[in-house]
Amino acid sequence: MDFADTPEVARFRAGLRAWLAGHLDEYRHGTGYHSDAALAATLRWHRALAGAGYVAVSLPAEYGGRGLPDVYEAVINEELARAQAPAAPPIGHIAHAIADFAGDELKTRVLPGLLGCTSSWCQGFSEPGAGSDLASLTTTGRREGDEYVVDGQKIWTSGAMWADWCLLLLRTEADQPRHRGLSMLVVDMTSAGIERREITLANGSREFAEVFFDGVRVPAANLVGQAGIGWRIAMHMLTYERGPADMGWVGRLGHVLAAAVEDVRTGRCAADEPLRRRLVACAVNIDVLRWQVARSLVDRAGVAASVDKLLTTRIEQELFRVVGDLAGTGFVQGDDRFDEYLWSRAQSIYGGTQQIQRQIVAQRVLGLPRG
Ligand SMILES: Cc1cc2nc3c(=O)[nH]c(=O)nc-3n(C[C@H](O)[C@H](O)[C@H](O)COP(=O)(O)OP(=O)(O)OC[C@H]3O[C@@H](n4cnc5c(N)ncnc54)[C@H](O)[C@@H]3O)c2cc1C
Repeated sequence: MDFADTPEVARFRAGLRAWLAGHLDEYRHGTGYHSDAALAATLRWHRALAGAGYVAVSLPAEYGGRGLPDVYEAVINEELARAQAPAAPPIGHIAHAIADFAGDELKTRVLPGLLGCTSSWCQGFSEPGAGSDLASLTTTGRREGDEYVVDGQKIWTSGAMWADWCLLLLRTEADQPRHRGLSMLVVDMTSAGIERREITLANGSREFAEVFFDGVRVPAANLVGQAGIGWRIAMHMLTYERGPADMGWVGRLGHVLAAAVEDVRTGRCAADEPLRRRLVACAVNIDVLRWQVARSLVDRAGVAASVDKLLTTRIEQELFRVVGDLAGTGFVQGDDRFDEYLWSRAQSIYGGTQQIQRQIVAQRVLGLPRG
């Protein structure tokens, strides 16, 4: 496999670097989800990036993308991490659900706002009784004429507090087996009957919410594809949650590692032999992860995304344990790295837990029987 840039990719990369050099400074600090000001700065950053043509570039040009191969998405994430810029908006999976399954009218109506970052979106899948076992979800959509009437509850919905739209997975076909009874609706978050309640994360981030739907009326024209194909769309989306974005993640881990190595090299932190060995193992593992993530770009339909998630989780969590041990006393509140350490704990949960990813690898790679 040749990972060198083609001349076109190299030109694209150079253009992005030049743009970042001219635009990054005002966004270098103060973004995030801990306060209203940080959120406003984050949304401004997303719009600036989209306005410059560096968001969802693999989506079709007619809807606001650039119709470029996935590798360009990876380059964007890699360059943002290299420059220590805030991350790109995490919208690729939602954009692909709509672009690859919705009819033309819905695509034309909602994709330009999503891709241009002029509208904010959230993903309403998990429920209090349906996380790993997502197909057991109970939020329902009852068809009445040319509308669906939605009732139920979602939880752990990232970005729901400020989202204009929700891509909602719900049960519409009561008489079908559970996987075939699901559909996906695009829901206007300002609709009557929607209540959002904020959930603050352990690290102080205010990006989570639980969302309640009480008799919410949604036009049937907002159905993504046909009724009953919600599970297929959800599985398609999961393959876009990882891959290109992880290129940025690897880059960010590289910065954390470099800072830790510098602390030891300059004597700011003392590291005994076992701790030094763990630091070296982190360096090797981050390199391995880089190649695994590159592989998952060309093996999207396979299990590469699960392997990638398992590796990222293990490596990131161990890296932050090492950084904590280097600090001697562990982390203190207010230290940015404490924030990142807490976030690393979430890696083993979102987008499919560690245990579920292991089951996928056990069954589909090793061919083991179901446990
Ligand atoms: C940072 C973050 C962002 C998120 N964003 C969103 C979002 O935007 N939208 C959304 O819909 N959801 C979101 N989630 C929710 C996430 O998808 C769920 O938390 C996840 O799927 C796990 O579901 P659960 O929390 O219900 O845990 P459960 O499924 O109840 O699992 C609890 C524990 O049991 C284990 N377990 C469950 N079933 C099995 C099994 N069959 N075999 C072995 N072990 C098992 C799990 O691995 C876990 O350790 C987010 C979560 C996090 C942490």
